[in-house]
Amino acid sequence: MPAFSLDPENLAARRERAMQRALAREGPRLAADFSAGKPLDDDDLVTLFLSADVPTADLLEVARAKQAPGAPKLETFSPLYISNECDGECLMCGMRRINGELQRITASASATDEQLDILYRRGLRGVALLTGEYRRGPMRDEMLKRTTAAARSALERDFAHILINIGSLEAEEYEVFFGGIPPRSDAALLTMCTFQETYDPKVYERFMGSNRENPRSDFKRRLENFDRAADAGFRSANPGLLLGLNRDLAFELLALCAHVRHLLARDMRVYISLPRLRKASGTAYHAGVSDDDLTRVVSLLSVAFPEAKVVISTREAPEMQRLLVPVIGVLTAGSPGVAPYTEGGARFEIEESQFEVTDQRSIEVILAEHLAAGATIDGYEPAASSFANPA
Ligand code: SF4
Repeated sequence: MPAFSLDPENLAARRERAMQRALAREGPRLAADFSAGKPLDDDDLVTLFLSADVPTADLLEVARAKQAPGAPKLETFSPLYISNECDGECLMCGMRRINGELQRITASASATDEQLDILYRRGLRGVALLTGEYRRGPMRDEMLKRTTAAARSALERDFAHILINIGSLEAEEYEVFFGGIPPRSDAALLTMCTFQETYDPKVYERFMGSNRENPRSDFKRRLENFDRAADAGFRSANPGLLLGLNRDLAFELLALCAHVRHLLARDMRVYISLPRLRKASGTAYHAGVSDDDLTRVVSLLSVAFPEAKVVISTREAPEMQRLLVPVIGVLTAGSPGVAPYTEGGARFEIEESQFEVTDQRSIEVILAEHLAAGATIDGYEPAASSFANPA
């Protein structure tokens, strides 16, 4: 199958047609079809998104009604940043190379292993390993080596789901990664994470830069990363939008739907991340989208892709988590600091983190709330003490 590609002009034209349909008041009829389970294509979904005469509460209600009966069935994993060094220059990110305000930290291999032990003792069975993205050279090789070692450690500790979020890799780097972990047992799920953040090449260039020395500036290389990952052996992909970078959410939704369909056609399991832009160290950009827009996007994607899992993190406040939990697949809690975990908590200082986290309650408290409300949570086996008496 050819690698994923986009035609931005075609997407913009489709987005414009969807707006015209929304203005022509096609929304209520589409909403009735949506509720009745009639298949809607991506243009219909975006028309619904844009239809001011279709209340967000109605879309959320349809998404709720489409879920399997009973309490929400969630999955969780926690982020573990190995380093906050980065050669990228993304304007919205605290880790960007030229941010002199960030305290740079890289965890040693033993500190990373200790963090995995702590997360495991705290009941986590899913972990996302993160670094920055680096130019070709010794630093990039070293970070790939460290991530591979951390993935190996996580497999040895019986983590059931390990997510790799270290930028886009080349085919030979995937070989290094798979050569450094035990042969595939399929006992654990390995997921490659590459958030495009925005599918609009112009917006991408505005935020991620155009300097070819900057490893993050290559829009196409990033867009095709899941195809290289799948060729190398990854069976699970985690694309994502950074909501707030591009004001044209309808364009982003059309592109994201196309990407998800491509990944499903490649037989990949798909996790869809929808973080909202937040404040970060030394940045001027921290206006995410509204609660209403986030709820519309989540509801529509949840119905359009029942086989995928929408991921919401603790960038969202507790009230937003409660609103969306019935229609998402994954709630992730944790810190974007480097090696931040203690036996009962975590460091969240923005001066050493990628971005600001809104909900800084402990992982146990956050997950216990949803367990107590009846949810099941894969990837979490709380110690009896932490469930009864969370920190
Ligand atoms: S978004 Fe990623 S690549 Fe860009 S500066 Fe931040 S960590 Fe680096």
